[in-house]
Amino acid sequence: MIKFCTLASGSSGNSLYLESKYSKILIDAGISFRRISRSLGNMGVAVSDLDAVVLSHEHEDHSRAVGKMSEVPVYVSGETTGFWEGKRNGHRNGNGAAERLREFDSEEPFSINDLTITPFSVEHDAIDPVGFTVTDGSVKIGIVTDIGKPTALVIESLKGCDALVLESNHDREMLFSGSYPPYLQQRISGGHGHLSNEQSASLLREVLHDGLKYVLLAHLSAKNNSPEMALRCSLEVLRQNGAADRVAVSVAPRSTVGEVITV
Ligand SMILES: [Zn+2]
Ligand SMILES: [Zn+2]
Repeated sequence: MIKFCTLASGSSGNSLYLESKYSKILIDAGISFRRISRSLGNMGVAVSDLDAVVLSHEHEDHSRAVGKMSEVPVYVSGETTGFWEGKRNGHRNGNGAAERLREFDSEEPFSINDLTITPFSVEHDAIDPVGFTVTDGSVKIGIVTDIGKPTALVIESLKGCDALVLESNHDREMLFSGSYPPYLQQRISGGHGHLSNEQSASLLREVLHDGLKYVLLAHLSAKNNSPEMALRCSLEVLRQNGAADRVAVSVAPRSTVGEVITV
């Protein structure tokens, strides 16, 4: 059994708390240390109880607090290690993290107590960005945010999950008719940016199976999306495939702790 919840989700900060029988970890730590500490505290968990912080990539909205999480091991992909070591001297994010780095290979599963975490490369404008699947041997959770497109590797990796945390960043029409400058519209919608609602829904269609119980839509844009629009796209896919009754879908709130999901 695994339970998880987002502490925050979106371009102003991402962090997901995940707990199994013998492990407590964060996937990403992109909000302030104070908020992480307070949010975990409300669940009866201290930062020092964490076995690991596992980073998907180095962007600040995923890594802001790692420098301050003293004594918690920080798992980063091989090519990202250099980024953190380069920040050894005094950077507000990196300071203190370099001593606690545990390097993983972006193609090799690794273990934290009873959890097996399998990273896989994703297309995003970072050094060595990855998505993850996490299993305790009985259930499997897939987690992908910040991906430019659903590649064959992403689809293959997310097959067979009991729960998915899936980026549903923007509505294309809102993005292109909105206030963002053209270069930013290109960056977000391009192959190394973020998934639109439509792309997210089509990824869901590819990996949908009888065992899927929960879909949490994540990393929604505040300006270029709405929870209703993101939900509508995914629900349509579930309906078309006769799965709307057995798969629960919700949206991760941007700046508050999300509901605790147990699978
Ligand atoms: Zn992000
Ligand atoms: Zn990013």
